[in-house]
Amino acid sequence: MAAPRASGGGRSGWRPALSPSRAGDFKQCPLLYRFRAVDRLPEKPTKAQVRGIVLHAVLEELFDLPAQERVPERARALVEPAWQRVRAERPELAGLFDGAPDEEVAEWLLSSNKLIDGYFALEDPRRLEPEARELLVESELASGVLLRGYVDRLDVAPTGEIRVVDYKTGAAPRQIGEGKALFQMKFYALVLWRLRGVVPRQLRLMYLADGQDLAYTPDEAELRRFERTLEAIWDAILRAGRTGDFRPNPSRLCDYCDHRALCPAFGGTPPPYPGWPEPDAGQETALDRAD
Ligand code: SF4
Repeated sequence: MAAPRASGGGRSGWRPALSPSRAGDFKQCPLLYRFRAVDRLPEKPTKAQVRGIVLHAVLEELFDLPAQERVPERARALVEPAWQRVRAERPELAGLFDGAPDEEVAEWLLSSNKLIDGYFALEDPRRLEPEARELLVESELASGVLLRGYVDRLDVAPTGEIRVVDYKTGAAPRQIGEGKALFQMKFYALVLWRLRGVVPRQLRLMYLADGQDLAYTPDEAELRRFERTLEAIWDAILRAGRTGDFRPNPSRLCDYCDHRALCPAFGGTPPPYPGWPEPDAGQETALDRAD
């Protein structure tokens, strides 16, 4: 078993790493990976994504309250301050409502209430004391591949059993979406297994828009196979990084790609390859985790 490199919560020498979002990008389309991780082209956040960031902040703060106060009304009251904080910390998101009437912003904030209701339909936070929220986890595999990501919430039972929880603010996915979500959860399960020596008992995805969840129990053999998959993806990324040969892989997910104008599959021309970036080509952003 590979030695853990760092426990959650700190940065142990920020260097190129594989995150679930970027690994997923490369699997979907190498050129999309390049645009995001190498060229780092800006993408216009949608209102739904920013609402996702706000909701993640609300659910993180909810557990700062005394247990008996973790009720829907208190959660709703956290939305507006969370949005103000997100705006202040991330000026690129502040322009989301430029020129929009106040009513539009108010309506958008109110739309979070449905997601909060979806959350409370799934669990009662008064009965939970998570071990960690928004936890940065890193682990280096024996092959040298550094895995890095953020876990929305980690629950640890008195018996030591671990549950990884991820909040999704979109509707419950079907087909591709579910595959992507499970890929992400297996990634976290592998990192936590390598860090703690315990295979997480459960991976739980909570879909707040429709109050559904998906629970999954990984096993060691599966995580070993998944580890080899990630190593193969990282090898392929490094090969493409050396040559600049990141090929487009058109699919129906292109409908959601911000970079079609630069994509050869749509008649565009990518900018000159800038070379492999230093120091980080795999960092997740808040937007990655806000879906
Ligand atoms: S438009 Fe499609 S093929 Fe082109 S970069 Fe985006 S995801 Fe890849």
